[in-house]
Amino acid sequence: MAEKYKRADGRDYDETRKMEAKVGVVKRADGSAIFSFGKSQALACVYGPRQFHPQHLQNPEKGVLRCYYDMTSFSVPERKRPGPNRRASEISFVTSRALETVIPLENYPNSVIDCYILILQADASTRCAGINAAALALASAGIPMKEMVSAVSVGKIGGAIVADISKDEEDYEIVKDGKTIKSATDIPFAILSRSEKISLLQLDGRIKPEDLKEAIAMAKKVCRKINEIQKKALKKIKEE
Ligand code: ADP
Repeated sequence: MAEKYKRADGRDYDETRKMEAKVGVVKRADGSAIFSFGKSQALACVYGPRQFHPQHLQNPEKGVLRCYYDMTSFSVPERKRPGPNRRASEISFVTSRALETVIPLENYPNSVIDCYILILQADASTRCAGINAAALALASAGIPMKEMVSAVSVGKIGGAIVADISKDEEDYEIVKDGKTIKSATDIPFAILSRSEKISLLQLDGRIKPEDLKEAIAMAKKVCRKINEIQKKALKKIKEE
């Protein structure tokens, strides 16, 4: 029988890295939060709802949520070239889609809500850390949300379905036909807290349908835990 895959940092398959959540970290923002999975740390700041400028972009029917994701140059071991790139644009787009579904944007005609997500440290799963921070920042800005949003990456590595993938795991390699190949599958999920609907599902790699089912079940289970941590962080700021 094949040996069971052991995670390099000794975690159980459904165990995340240490999670930390703190709300109200940037006083000038209308809402802000930090969320981390181990060494992946995201800061989110929300401004608005405010009038959308330039005026021709306004929608009289509903408001707009704009998320901007970026990594600081010093967030990765090799200095990242500053400024937006294609990856950041894609993550900004999917983050906006994952979060706007819970906001009653029809209550904010001609308005915009801006959410800036900055990755301070990156060790994979940063889009998920960013969504968790952004959901907290939106809630702390007093923006009504139909449900909370929690995000986690689930992957298939070494034949096992595991939660909250680190960079080492994402880079997992195997030797096949004498060639070393990257073999990790990474699936970032965002799950709504009450309905457990999926508002983000991306797939980097290959996965069988039965494994995808297992990954979805694990994402839902882990997001329940993440939601508890988010709720605690929000409660703490109310008590202060
Ligand atoms: P996610 O961070 O959501 O998992 P990716 O799968 O695109 O998104 O990236 C995985 C990881 O790769 C990042 O968290 C980061 O650690 C690393 N990474 C991404 N872009 C760069 C870059 N330009 N330079 C160095 N490392 C990077």
